[in-house]
Amino acid sequence: MTATLDSPSDSADLNLDAWRTLTAAQQPNWPDPQVLREVASTLAQLPPLVVATEVDALTARLAQVARGEAFLLQGGDCAETFLTSTQADIAGKVRVLLQMAVVLTYGASMPVVKVGRMAGQYAKPRSTELDAFGLPSYRGDMVNELHGDAAARTPDPRRILKAYSTAASTLNLLRAYAGGGLASLEKVHAWNTAFARSTETGARYEQLAAEIDRAVRFMRACGVNDTVLEGVELYVSHEALILEYERGLTRLENDRAYDLSGHFVWVGERTRQMDGAHLDFVSRIANPIGVKLGPTTTPEFAAELVERLDPDGIPGRLTLISRMSNFRVRDALPAIVEKVRSTGHLVVWQCDPMHGNTQETSDGVKTRHLDRIIDEVDGFFDVHAELGTHPGGLHVELTGEDVTECIGGTADLTAADLGRRYETACDPRLNIEQSLELAFRVAERLVA
Ligand code: PEP
Ligand code: MN
Repeated sequence: MTATLDSPSDSADLNLDAWRTLTAAQQPNWPDPQVLREVASTLAQLPPLVVATEVDALTARLAQVARGEAFLLQGGDCAETFLTSTQADIAGKVRVLLQMAVVLTYGASMPVVKVGRMAGQYAKPRSTELDAFGLPSYRGDMVNELHGDAAARTPDPRRILKAYSTAASTLNLLRAYAGGGLASLEKVHAWNTAFARSTETGARYEQLAAEIDRAVRFMRACGVNDTVLEGVELYVSHEALILEYERGLTRLENDRAYDLSGHFVWVGERTRQMDGAHLDFVSRIANPIGVKLGPTTTPEFAAELVERLDPDGIPGRLTLISRMSNFRVRDALPAIVEKVRSTGHLVVWQCDPMHGNTQETSDGVKTRHLDRIIDEVDGFFDVHAELGTHPGGLHVELTGEDVTECIGGTADLTAADLGRRYETACDPRLNIEQSLELAFRVAERLVA
């Protein structure tokens, strides 16, 4: 029997292919539909990347966040690439996420749910069809090639399978690290790289790590040998953009559909049309899901979204990711939060302080200033403090490398520094020091 897209895994009337009849924004113009169909049927037979019990465990964690009992930290590249999915790069991102998480946990005395933008973040929505050189825009490694000519930029559906295998090898390493290979609290010093140690914020981290180290040794001496000290729960997420990929990795478990390409998927600002394909698809899966909300979002739209995506009122099911810009967050967010609260649904409120704050230097280089990023986070906390709701999480683009892509921070990077190490395949990412600085800032707000 050959697996087709509507059987055998759609037996529960879940209408997992309803999206095919709707308008799907930001899909590539795949040149060869036959190859795409073959790729989709191959995907449908491959093992899933994660399993449903893990997905449900994350929903339960996010329910704690929705109730104000935990904080969600989500971060990673804007766009992962196949070439940079190396051990060093993956370890770097895991380390910086763990460092930020420890700063937040210790500072705020609150559990931190850790989610990488990793092992699947290979597809990008673009504002223009053509780039500045007149070539078809780069749409992520799942679709076309970053470097090269028009041929390299032609979408190739076979890249979807390469995305699957790169996600699998990335996840394999992540799981080994999370299981203790890197994540044991006894390694809290080792997460700080030589570079970070030499910086002002890195030194602040060293102090905190020394305190944690002492506390862990104290607990060990008391005979505490709890496994929670040995590893961490680390989940993975990406934007659900290329619906063939998401559909191809969706499996039925107990009559529910799980998108097992990752634990958490979100719908981006450019694909969240109420009658569009993306919202339809995610409305039918059992994963915890997110939706980005930019400054044009109306409170009515947000309320309708919540009813549509969380019809059963499951805390943790839906994360609303506001990305308003530092200028707009204080004006635009309150009415949205109030309206959603009036629906009675308990959602996770998460702040993405990156995407509203992208600016261009006079040389046309995309960057973000740490002051604006911190200001949006501050505005987000102010709004929730005012309304008595929980500022549930942070969503950031970062790397574990010493890149120079965002400006500002204690190292006071300026536009003139951007040429030194500007390596992102898409949006500018925080480097380790800037990431840690942001984490200390958020920890301060969480205790205040
Ligand atoms: C992103 O997260 O990389 C992104 C494209 O965000 P948004 O949809 O909010 O613009
Ligand atoms: Mn981005």
